[in-house]
Amino acid sequence: MKLWEHYHTPTTVDGALALLAQYAGQARVIAGGTDLLVDARAEGGFHPYPALVDITRIPELCAVEEDGDFITVGAGVTHTQIVKSSLLARYATCLVESCGVVGGPQVRNVGTLGGNVAHALPAGDGTTSLVALDAEADIVKDGQPRRVPVQEMFLGPGQSLVDSTRDLLLRFRFHRAADHEATAFKRIMRPQGVALPILGCAVWVRLDENRATFEAARISIAPVGPTPGRAGEVEQALIGQPAADETITRIAELAQSTLHPRTSKYRATADYRREMIGVLVRRTLALAVKRAQTGDIVPEGVGA
Ligand SMILES: Cc1cc2nc3c(=O)[nH]c(=O)nc-3n(C[C@H](O)[C@H](O)[C@H](O)COP(=O)(O)OP(=O)(O)OC[C@H]3O[C@@H](n4cnc5c(N)ncnc54)[C@H](O)[C@@H]3O)c2cc1C
Repeated sequence: MKLWEHYHTPTTVDGALALLAQYAGQARVIAGGTDLLVDARAEGGFHPYPALVDITRIPELCAVEEDGDFITVGAGVTHTQIVKSSLLARYATCLVESCGVVGGPQVRNVGTLGGNVAHALPAGDGTTSLVALDAEADIVKDGQPRRVPVQEMFLGPGQSLVDSTRDLLLRFRFHRAADHEATAFKRIMRPQGVALPILGCAVWVRLDENRATFEAARISIAPVGPTPGRAGEVEQALIGQPAADETITRIAELAQSTLHPRTSKYRATADYRREMIGVLVRRTLALAVKRAQTGDIVPEGVGA
């Protein structure tokens, strides 16, 4: 089965953009290929891509870096690189936890954070954490560099702001967790290995200086809509409340009553998924609060 005619491995962003321009919409960006090639195979390989432009040899797209109070993660950084980053484990724990549960080791070794976002499915695990981190994406769109909130990358299920035949997603940028701040990610899966997650949840919290009250929170639960989003009403309800078990229980109930996941034959019924929203929010929020209060941060559930 032939999936492409020409395979290019540029080593600069300009080189990749020049190739995309040369093929005038006929070439396609590829990173790990764990979404793209699976889809191409499913189509039977009857329409091979005239060219694939592999972005994983471009050093600036494959780096995790500190930039003052910000952290940048290149679009070509693999899930395994993220899991192994002590910087991210400390300052963006939810991202490590979400990338650590993506597929199995083979998928994590080549699959990238950029591919997870550019594929534009509402339940991408890395995506869910980027939304809770309030990340921005640096892209080149229609030849122009732009910085956009990561949520704006999603136009609909499978529809991205970047046209992967012409544009490039370069990197993500977000604040590193400061003192009194922490994050966590948890996911509920069916027991079998290759299945769609029932729900994933990423949380970021900031407590006051006594670590006793919520000052701010961001909660991303997916998938509950066609694009990734935040539980705004739930986040607002946390502000000023004591960082205690009773608040967490109440907030989990609020999430359960205000979010409306659909029945999915591949995931679970709407009723079950709504029930699980309460369970996930309670567990994930409690973990983030514990981390913010103790400063004791060890990513959980991260695959080898
Ligand atoms: C067995 C299996 C299990 C999986 N399990 C999970 C899971 O548990 N959780 C999960 O979230 N995902 C899962 N996935 C999906 C997939 O592995 C991830 O979404 C991965 O992050 C995709 O990254 P990639 O580098 O392989 O993307 P690719 O397949 O290379 O690309 C995906 C799309 O993004 C475009 N693209 C990639 N990089 C760029 C860029 N820099 N600029 C512009 N466009 C770009 C491509 O053109 C393509 O349209 C699984 C996949 C498989 C095969």
